[in-house]
Amino acid sequence: MAFPAPLQRLIQALEKFPGVGARSAERMALHVLRSPAEDAAELALALRDARMETLRCAVCGNITLRTPCAICEDEDRNRTLVCVVEGPREVESMESAGVFTGLYHVLMDGFAPREGAEPEPDALDALRKRVEQDGVLEVVLATAPDREGEGAGLLVAEALEGLDVNLTRLARGVPVGTRLEYLHGEILADAFRGRSAMPAPSSSR
Ligand SMILES: [Zn+2]
Repeated sequence: MAFPAPLQRLIQALEKFPGVGARSAERMALHVLRSPAEDAAELALALRDARMETLRCAVCGNITLRTPCAICEDEDRNRTLVCVVEGPREVESMESAGVFTGLYHVLMDGFAPREGAEPEPDALDALRKRVEQDGVLEVVLATAPDREGEGAGLLVAEALEGLDVNLTRLARGVPVGTRLEYLHGEILADAFRGRSAMPAPSSSR
């Protein structure tokens, strides 16, 4: 082993990140060694805090410091409207755009959306429960307009079958292949205004 053990240990830890190969891990580790010691200490602290201090909201599944999260607890928001998104990044985009005043429901593994890209069964059950118990009148599907997003939408429609709730999806003004997180507020606002009824699961097969 050419590198001293502590450096080797850092490289091995970095290699576990998605999309980071041996060469990039090595480059990142050497960068840490070149940086001021306080930067490395700050990085270590940030890693620890992000991991230890965040959790997922028991209601909506978003990443938060406490559960229920601030959005779920906000009495000023429209509690009859729930927007189903793939992950926390989409919540972040919508909140920054400020175009949506309802509540959210995070469908996929909040920490690795798109890896496996399957809605979590728990998330589907939790959504059904919310609609049954919390007076939700409309569920807006805001999953990506691609194959995975469409598939997730169908699973949501199935999970909500038989419930008295309006299932809509965002208008298709969203460019095909564009992830919600990359959209500007105006496009998002348009998409919300033009949302349309979801076809029933039986008629869409
Ligand atoms: Zn929440």
